[in-house]
Amino acid sequence: MAPRTDEESRWFWEACARQEFVLQHCVACGVIRFHPRTLCPACLSAETAFVRASGRGEVYTFTVTWQNQSPAWRERLPYVLAWVQLEEGPLVLSNVVDCKPEAVCIGLKVEVVFEDAGEGLAVPRFKPFEGA
Ligand SMILES: [Zn+2]
Repeated sequence: MAPRTDEESRWFWEACARQEFVLQHCVACGVIRFHPRTLCPACLSAETAFVRASGRGEVYTFTVTWQNQSPAWRERLPYVLAWVQLEEGPLVLSNVVDCKPEAVCIGLKVEVVFEDAGEGLAVPRFKPFEGA
């Protein structure tokens, strides 16, 4: 299912389709922000630069869902919903995939993977980091 987009966020989902996790960097105060938005939440500046994130982070906290009858989710059961803290600082609410829920723990190192969502968009999810 494609994410709902608007003028503030469509560029982000399109970048994900190019396998890029892009964050906004406030030129005025230096804050790196996620989710996409026009104004900096810290200083309200609209001066924005874009930085390609490493795509790596760690699980800040998570929950495992065992029951969900929504057609979009029931085929994924059980699934992990997690707040992932990126190396660049922002927290991202997403799923941890490609592992059993029992393998997920707070502090688990993860890296982004992009799931095609159709319509030229993709959704970032995270899997256990296997790199060095
Ligand atoms: Zn700012």
